[in-house]
Amino acid sequence: MTSTQPVSAPVTSGQFDVVNPGTSAVVGTYPIHTADDIADRLDQAREAQIWWAAQGFSGRKRILTSWVRWLAAHAEEIYELGNAETARPVGDIQMEFIAGLEDIRWTAAHAERVLKRRKVAPGIAFPNFAADVVHEPLGVVGIITPWNVPIYTVLSGAACALAAGNTVIVKPSELSAGAGAFVIEGFYKANPDVPVGIISYVHGLGETGAALCKSGVDKLAFTGSVPTGRRVMAACAEKLTPVVLELGGKDATIVAEDADLEAAATAVVWGAFFNGGQACVGVERVYVVKEVRDAFLELVRTKAEKVTAGLESGASYGPMITPGQIEIVRRHIDAAIAGGATVLIGGPESVRPPFVHPVVLVDVPEDNAAVCEETFGPVVVINTVEDIDDAIRRTNGTSFGLGASVFSKRRGAEIASRMRSGGVTVNAVLSFVGMPSVPFGGVGDSGFGRFHGDAGLREFTFAKSTVRKKFSMGPNVQEFPRTEEQYDVIRKTIKMRYERKFRS
Ligand code: NAD
Repeated sequence: MTSTQPVSAPVTSGQFDVVNPGTSAVVGTYPIHTADDIADRLDQAREAQIWWAAQGFSGRKRILTSWVRWLAAHAEEIYELGNAETARPVGDIQMEFIAGLEDIRWTAAHAERVLKRRKVAPGIAFPNFAADVVHEPLGVVGIITPWNVPIYTVLSGAACALAAGNTVIVKPSELSAGAGAFVIEGFYKANPDVPVGIISYVHGLGETGAALCKSGVDKLAFTGSVPTGRRVMAACAEKLTPVVLELGGKDATIVAEDADLEAAATAVVWGAFFNGGQACVGVERVYVVKEVRDAFLELVRTKAEKVTAGLESGASYGPMITPGQIEIVRRHIDAAIAGGATVLIGGPESVRPPFVHPVVLVDVPEDNAAVCEETFGPVVVINTVEDIDDAIRRTNGTSFGLGASVFSKRRGAEIASRMRSGGVTVNAVLSFVGMPSVPFGGVGDSGFGRFHGDAGLREFTFAKSTVRKKFSMGPNVQEFPRTEEQYDVIRKTIKMRYERKFRS
């Protein structure tokens, strides 16, 4: 079978433009796909899945590896497109790109180890049986992605689902539709002989995403905001489609008394402002113990003053993606100041659309919107705490739980173990995101389910148990009539196996 390009669905309705948020230039115009278009893609994906599953782990690894090579060879085009669509600096695009490549490599290399059939003990009741468990692909996985890491979220989600033997339909964000489509088309350019439908995409706005949720895909992996996540889950409930929700965060960093303050300040400034703060795992809150507060603030001030927003090469980050996001950032800055915060860097005047220049707010009340809600902009709150217990209480005090970090020379691991989030980094920030071997995902409002690692591969499978009777052994409790002898054997087993420990 050979693929027939293009891999997007046919157009049966309108279209939309992708606009560079820095220059307002139209970068591309794309069709809005409908439920009917998605149904066609789904039929194709179902058929392709039979072929894809039959390739086995080694066949899929070979094809995924070719895709990685093609992507690497087209890195410059990807940066250019990513920059044109979102006006982010190449450095930010490179980071998400390499993380995506690494995820495909890792999942392709490890899928067999994680998912292959393995023998398990049949248990005391069935000594005459053999038992095994295998993780089977679910079928077709729908993936809906956000704009802020538009390459990584397509590659990372697809990596887990494809390596596990599923086929995939992606709806990239309407704000960065071209980058998502480009990397998916690369799959077929790298592997011209594979059937179309292994990975495909549909374009559109929220309505197209909602149609994908209701299409009958076997799992829906959504990465985006909390409000959209709620809608996705509700839409998927209609057909009992299981969901993975990778949602927003309000990540905290704890700076302990024994922290390397220089390293902590450098990491916090980068973690708060890279990608213009438009990162699910960006540092939005910092809790610094009172003994080192002043020294830490001074270091942050010096470093943050050098961070610049702009379109020119050398700028630390680019514009905000939408006017709506600028308004959320403006509201949080105003709320913090009205709540009594001290402004260390920037302030309301930092909001100069389409840019928001760096803002550092100090001592913001914990119930303030700037502390409780995801800001998703270049604003960081630094609050002073009495001690580590206080820092942990505040860290765990929001509804989110995506990422976190702690700086401490002696107590890092202990403090990390008490922070309620899907991932924690000690003496650095965000590092777990770039490690394909560790599961990535959140708790609470940050969502559930995992990408990456063994858990990320299993996320797109179902566990299938096969048990086999090897020989007959009486008395058999699985046949009629039940005899007194059977009752007696079970009575004695319960007594010997379970009751004795309880008595002691
Ligand atoms: P968003 O929720 O506005 O949109 C995400 C995607 O959902 C887009 O493709 C959009 O078209 C689609 N969509 C919109 N309405 C829909 C509906 N009713 N049904 C189905 N799909 C629908 O998010 P965004 O602004 O693109 O991205 C920013 C958000 O994503 C932030 O909250 C950020 O924290 C989060 N995010 C999370 C992660 C993570 O891994 N946890 C990674 C990146 C971004």
